[in-house]
Amino acid sequence: MTRQIFRYENYTTRQDPTVEPEYSAECVGDQQACGEKSGKRSAANDVDDWMREHMRDAGHRHFRRSFEDFAELELTAGIPTALEPARFQRPRP
Ligand SMILES: [Zn+2]
Repeated sequence: MTRQIFRYENYTTRQDPTVEPEYSAECVGDQQACGEKSGKRSAANDVDDWMREHMRDAGHRHFRRSFEDFAELELTAGIPTALEPARFQRPRP
């Protein structure tokens, strides 16, 4: 019989600080689809500015906004809570 040892570690998901998140918007039109896109921007305010300009130029007021970022898993200390010793009363005969 072979004995196996499993090692579990805790990781926390966080936004990767080395990569800037990206913001964008797409005009979905009012009565019919428009499809005009802002392109990727580095700040939410830049997307707001684009939407206002598009509303001024095309009169459209409905958009689908997107936010994309990169994530990483960071090792954290401690035993995963799922692996802590069970706390229960054993039945007695
Ligand atoms: Zn539009």
